[in-house]
Amino acid sequence: MSKTGRFDSAYLRRVNCVKTFCTVREHGRVSRSELADITGLSRATVSETVRELLEREFIREVGPDNTARGRPPVQLEVNPTRFYLIAVEIDVGWIVVAITTLVGEILVRRRAEFRTYDYSFVLSMCARTVDDLMRQQGIQRDDVLGIGVAVPGQVDLSRRVVTFAPNLRWRDVTLADDLERILSLPVFVSNEAMLSAMAEKWFGTGKDAGVLVYVSIKGGLGGGIVSDRSLYLGVSGSAGELGHMSIDPNGPKCSCGSRGCWEVYSDEQAILERAFRALRTSKDSLLFQSSVVENRFLTVDDIVSAADQGDRMALEVVRESGWYLGVGIANIVNGVNPDMVIVGGRIAASTILFDEIRKVVTERGLQIPAAKVSIAPTKLGDEVALMGCIALLLDTLLEQPEGRLNMDSVSTN
Ligand SMILES: [Zn+2]
Repeated sequence: MSKTGRFDSAYLRRVNCVKTFCTVREHGRVSRSELADITGLSRATVSETVRELLEREFIREVGPDNTARGRPPVQLEVNPTRFYLIAVEIDVGWIVVAITTLVGEILVRRRAEFRTYDYSFVLSMCARTVDDLMRQQGIQRDDVLGIGVAVPGQVDLSRRVVTFAPNLRWRDVTLADDLERILSLPVFVSNEAMLSAMAEKWFGTGKDAGVLVYVSIKGGLGGGIVSDRSLYLGVSGSAGELGHMSIDPNGPKCSCGSRGCWEVYSDEQAILERAFRALRTSKDSLLFQSSVVENRFLTVDDIVSAADQGDRMALEVVRESGWYLGVGIANIVNGVNPDMVIVGGRIAASTILFDEIRKVVTERGLQIPAAKVSIAPTKLGDEVALMGCIALLLDTLLEQPEGRLNMDSVSTN
């Protein structure tokens, strides 16, 4: 995935391929000379890269642009129906599978739910859903370039093992190899928040960001750091585990064994617990209506919507959550100096939350990095991790000189 620091010819070839492919994808239709102007690559490099992408059938030539004067240039576009990519997101209690084109357009998606921590059960559910959707769309195995899988846990990319997914209660599961064996297709597995960071770079608001940090607020608090076009992985692949930076050395114990981790104050569980604590004293809150009168579990969506309606208690919960998120993001701003921090998760739907985060970052961040950073919610909604799987596949595919992912390249990657 990341070859940061490698500036050999293979690395440059990959960068040029990604740049060219992404430009064609973003512009819909574009000529070779326009490509050179937009990318800043030389005409010779563009022509070489385009030739390679045409050979691999990732892009195709389309009829001359008749609106142009003189001899119309041949236009290039991403080959929309030659190949397909498959994205799988696994979370606690559910999976979502989507089939997309090479442009990242979702053709079909299906959600399936489960009530178990049993790995084998979830594995076969993933395989069965992928198979069903392919059959339903009439897509053959040869037409699928690969499967990307997002998991809420740590992944050892070199061994292709999900080492620890606490919320799924999985340790050391060989998800990529197992799914590959069942489906006979190349499979890549990565952390959900890291993939979401890639999605923002490829498909989201972070397209032009030099350094982008994604903060995922779900059952835990994950993160991903993208510098230029590559994920920053660190020495053993765990860079971006921002939820475990300690913001109170004497704070409550965290699932990682440390104390006072950012996650303990900021993930969905922390936000809900904050609301439950407040509920004990304010029975007039809209949240009291949701949880007690309607006799159902309180959700983060309830809190966001009650705060939007001006509910005093919900506002307090959102502001306090924003304060803790702001403290962590100020640390990220000071330590990483990104030009963009993108926040995802259900709580990110609250604009009040972002007012509070930005206020804290201005107060606590170093002056220049805090002034340079833009902090925003994801615009990719609940498809962000799926789109991250597609970004990972495209990034990996464009890196493979032979044009297709094959099982050998997968197992040695
Ligand atoms: Zn921790």
